[in-house]
Amino acid sequence: MYERRRSRQVKVGSVAVGGDAPISIQSMTTTKTDDVQATLIQVHELATQGADIVRVAVPHEGDAKALPTIVQEGGVPIIADIHFSVRLALMSLEAGVHGLRLNPGNMRNPKHVKEVADAARERGVPIRIGVNAGSLDRKLVEKYGRPTSEALVESALYEIGLLEEHGFTDVKVSVKHQNVAEMINAYRLLATQTDVPLHLGVTEAGTPKQGIVKSAIGIGTLLAEGIGDTIRVSLTAEPVEEVKVGKQILAALGIRQDTFDLVACPSCGRAELDVFALAQEVEERIEKMDLPPMQIAVMGCEVNGPGEARDADIGIAAGPGRGLLFSKGKQIGWVPHDRLVDALLEEAERVAAEIRAEGARDDGVVEVLKGAGRRNALLQVGLGPPNPN
Ligand code: SF4
Repeated sequence: MYERRRSRQVKVGSVAVGGDAPISIQSMTTTKTDDVQATLIQVHELATQGADIVRVAVPHEGDAKALPTIVQEGGVPIIADIHFSVRLALMSLEAGVHGLRLNPGNMRNPKHVKEVADAARERGVPIRIGVNAGSLDRKLVEKYGRPTSEALVESALYEIGLLEEHGFTDVKVSVKHQNVAEMINAYRLLATQTDVPLHLGVTEAGTPKQGIVKSAIGIGTLLAEGIGDTIRVSLTAEPVEEVKVGKQILAALGIRQDTFDLVACPSCGRAELDVFALAQEVEERIEKMDLPPMQIAVMGCEVNGPGEARDADIGIAAGPGRGLLFSKGKQIGWVPHDRLVDALLEEAERVAAEIRAEGARDDGVVEVLKGAGRRNALLQVGLGPPNPN
């Protein structure tokens, strides 16, 4: 599908990042970490939605004290986000976190960097160096005039070097920028200069309306070039939304399919019903179902609809007053408009049971989509026939 950049591999608890490991999805809690119950609820929500790794902020001692319970009961690898405090970093390691996010350059005192590096090494815990345009060292901003991609890369290499001085190489790195073009450039540049695994993200991407577009372009462009080992979509929204978008980015690229793929036509003057409302209802109801990965098509008319509906795992093509239901390429029959969604989802349940029985696609990670999904995956990378719709 694409040639992936060769990176070294680190282990964040049970999750491998880099090398040939599947690209993992991360998010960060928004609760006060010392509110153990609220944080655990959010960690569990994120894990249920598909987060592989969850980061929690540790700005105070109380947060570090909450970590043992969160680590034990979180159910996913937990990363402690430390700003500059060696004490909080050591407390977090003591608590059993699976990863640290900190920039050694913020610690100033080389002795502290060594202490953290030694303690992390002893426990086999990796450190993510998180270079961010908004908090770039002033000297670098002065040198480059602004936080350019080159400045981010220089900072990242400097931070990597600080840990390497103490023999610590179990690192992954992010060079996040709020400007998508700078972000893409920074990762491209960094990818040529080190083999550390890369954590991709557009920082401060904003509310979902803008943030999803920026993240999909920034993260998606790099992944399509084979760059990136783990991703975090940053949205000004509930963190579960970040995970859903992350999954959609990976699914759209055909890299990893662990969510449904809804194919819906944009509607036009030929539409026989309200396609917007129909697709929205299907999406909302599917999100609440526990379906294995499958492609579902919702099409507005009999002109282009049947082709797409037939190609998907299940699909409907609306006609006047009724719609044609397809399942695994076969025409099932006509269904009145007011029964379309119910009939589609009943068929989805039936197909889901079949898929589970096959045991082929319910392991959460599929490198290449099968059947109809495969056709669209190939189209994404320009290997398939032109889409007639
Ligand atoms: S499937 Fe039909 S209604 Fe939907 S956009 Fe295509 S032609 Fe228009």
